[in-house]
Amino acid sequence: MENVGEQVVCLIAYHLLFAMFVWSYWKTIFTLPMNPSKEFHLSYAEKELLEREPRGEAHQEVLRRAAKDLPIYTRTMSGAIRYCDRCQLIKPDRCHHCSVCDKCILKMDHHCPWVNNCVGFSNYKFFLLFLAYSLLYCLFIAATDLQYFIKFWTNGLPDTQAKFHIMFLFFAAAMFSVSLSSLFGYHCWLVSKNKSTLEAFRSPVFRHGTDKNGFSLGFSKNMRQVFGDEKKYWLLPVFSSLGDGCSFPTCLVNQDPEQPSTPAGMNSTLKTPENHQFPAKPLRESQSHLLTDSQSWTENTANPGKGKAGMSNPALTMENET
Ligand SMILES: [Zn+2]
Ligand SMILES: [Zn+2]
Repeated sequence: MENVGEQVVCLIAYHLLFAMFVWSYWKTIFTLPMNPSKEFHLSYAEKELLEREPRGEAHQEVLRRAAKDLPIYTRTMSGAIRYCDRCQLIKPDRCHHCSVCDKCILKMDHHCPWVNNCVGFSNYKFFLLFLAYSLLYCLFIAATDLQYFIKFWTNGLPDTQAKFHIMFLFFAAAMFSVSLSSLFGYHCWLVSKNKSTLEAFRSPVFRHGTDKNGFSLGFSKNMRQVFGDEKKYWLLPVFSSLGDGCSFPTCLVNQDPEQPSTPAGMNSTLKTPENHQFPAKPLRESQSHLLTDSQSWTENTANPGKGKAGMSNPALTMENET
């Protein structure tokens, strides 16, 4: 590269992409997954009662009573309350028990060996940005290396060992670009449909039955669920997702009589007998908008393309429910 201006632009672009890539990778690895809040844990008396009751209707009755003031709308395949035996808690919607972490993880997406962490509500935005910046980083390297890569094959490079570095660098960058773009494309599709990887493998079951787009609020709102309302934070790995991870607005708000349709209704429904408001952290105003705005609650259920090539089955880390 002869031109000084070109060198400066490339240096700045390279270090900017590298810094963003490392920052989002760091945040994905070191952000602890969030676990269900104490409202979802059974009391000592309830645990005792459960131990005494054999599996079956009586067991379910204890759980139903414990769950009646909790904002949960999903069920197991057989219509039972979702309960984790390991953590002894009622699973919030979209929460799953990770067999690797041995904990219930809020809005669990999958357990990722590349970051040695569970990807879920607390770090899903960071994971997406990590995929995006690592893809841009690899594409930048492949693009700037391309002209020297061509020279390598046309004998235009000086005959030193460095010429082999150029070849290997291009192959590595190109190969990572291909695999990252398919994974990133798949997660973009998931975000647009407001699904987690686990929900794409197995659709969530609601009181009225299975609904693969049950959490989808329309493209724009689905994006804001993960990235938040403030555009200035969208490209930065700082937490800006909406909600508390325990309860989620669904597209069934106008169909399910038990689901609150206004923030006021929500508060009255979610009050526990002790006059305690759930969730402990109040819903952000932005999320209240999601609940009051009746537009675009329904969306076309176009059959999405499958983009799971090369992925291990994340459902294997999720404990089975019956
Ligand atoms: Zn659990
Ligand atoms: Zn995990």
